Amino acid sequence: MSMLFDTHAHYTDEKFGNPTSLIDSLFRDDICGILCVGTDEKTSRDSLSLAKKYNNMYTAAGIHPHECAAESEKHGGMQEAIDALLPLLSDEKTVALGEIGLDYYYDFSPRQMQKEFFDAQITLSEQLRLPIVIHDREAHGDVLDIVKAHPDSFGIIHSCSCSAEHVKEFLKRNYFISFSGSLTFKNASKLLEAAKVVPIDRILVETDCPYLAPVPMRGKINHSGYMKYTAQKAAELLGVEYDEFCRREVENAHRIFNIKN
Ligand SMILES: [Zn+2]
Repeated sequence: MSMLFDTHAHYTDEKFGNPTSLIDSLFRDDICGILCVGTDEKTSRDSLSLAKKYNNMYTAAGIHPHECAAESEKHGGMQEAIDALLPLLSDEKTVALGEIGLDYYYDFSPRQMQKEFFDAQITLSEQLRLPIVIHDREAHGDVLDIVKAHPDSFGIIHSCSCSAEHVKEFLKRNYFISFSGSLTFKNASKLLEAAKVVPIDRILVETDCPYLAPVPMRGKINHSGYMKYTAQKAAELLGVEYDEFCRREVENAHRIFNIKN
């Protein structure tokens, strides 16, 4: 059975209730690794606690663009909010800083503030030599500009929604491209073109669960067990056998997260 690494999941989401029996079954089945991703201090802390229960679950701590305003308010400033992540980021189970980025679709935090949090958290990732997990929704130009200003940064474009041109820019830098269930959606033609330019040693797959369940599970609560549909689509686009795709995907995840085994 071919194994996959889910590079972006939110198992602390309330939709999962107590996720332990689900996660146990995923690790018995075809999942060999999961990155559980935080979006603010609390979910980053909860994700770390969950990750500590499983050998093959890891975590990322960071402040999502949606949460910048609330975290700044809660901690009394941006720097204070980011500093609150430091104990989490120094844990051996924390293998990335994220998710961070820009979201101009919902605009839950003012854009200027989103940019400042994104920039400051990339700077921190460079100091800590951690990969970042980038959330980019309808902010492709500004995300790329900020990444360009940080030549030592590296990481993952999560749930990629950019054009092939933008993907090529991230590939020139030290970024991996991760595809979610949106790759299987009917209106995905632009994304299919983007996936085709990603070499096999830079591609990843993810669920972003509980969201973005792939076809034919669309509309259900997503989980890592459904990720095979996304991986099958990606393998087809890259023109590689499914087993080979899975082997390389796991290898890529281990490389970007610096997991040795
Ligand atoms: Zn996410």
